[in-house]
Amino acid sequence: MSVKEGLGLIHVYTGNGKGKTTASLGLTMRALGNGLSVAMVQFMKHDQGSGEYVMSKKLENFTLIPCGLPELVDPKNISDAERAAAAEALVKVKELLYSGEYDLFIIDEANGAMSWGLISVDNMISILNGRPKNTEVVLTGRNAPSEIIEIADYVTEMRFVKHPFDKGIGSRKGIES
Ligand code: ATP
Ligand code: MG
Repeated sequence: MSVKEGLGLIHVYTGNGKGKTTASLGLTMRALGNGLSVAMVQFMKHDQGSGEYVMSKKLENFTLIPCGLPELVDPKNISDAERAAAAEALVKVKELLYSGEYDLFIIDEANGAMSWGLISVDNMISILNGRPKNTEVVLTGRNAPSEIIEIADYVTEMRFVKHPFDKGIGSRKGIES
């Protein structure tokens, strides 16, 4: 069996501890080293200065598309523009996923976008169900909906134990972005 023939499962990285997006980037490195191609679409992210975005521009087989507005999304006060950006991100997911060009497809913050109601869980599931057979998918973000956990093959919860945010240490370049 070729490397690609063995692919096609769904991963979920959820929970309140650090490590969801970075775990998916670790998987990206492993996949690239095996000659696979990788796409990551990020919901609710705008940053084109993140380490992963800069690296994606240098790596031939890694495409990263941040989709979102510059401001942080407040789950209690979601704007029409934020909903529109998430809807566009979902269109992008479908377009790239169905292109069949990618072996590993990461939908970063998909869980947050679903649990905050920016996109519908049913839409996401029907898009995932229609994907090319040998595309491995990763969904990251807190509060993964139960329907997503149901259809996933790997589910990992990053459990919060400590985070330096609680001592007043904010996001650091090279570590958090
Ligand atoms: P990373 O991108 O570092 O792997 P993550 O994807 O697990 O983190 P997110 O839920 O996407 O975490 O959070 C976005 C940012 O918030 C990350 O930069 C992360 O370091 C930080 N963060 C993660 N957990 C906590 C926490 N419990 N309290 C405060 N900030 C956190
Ligand atoms: Mg993340």
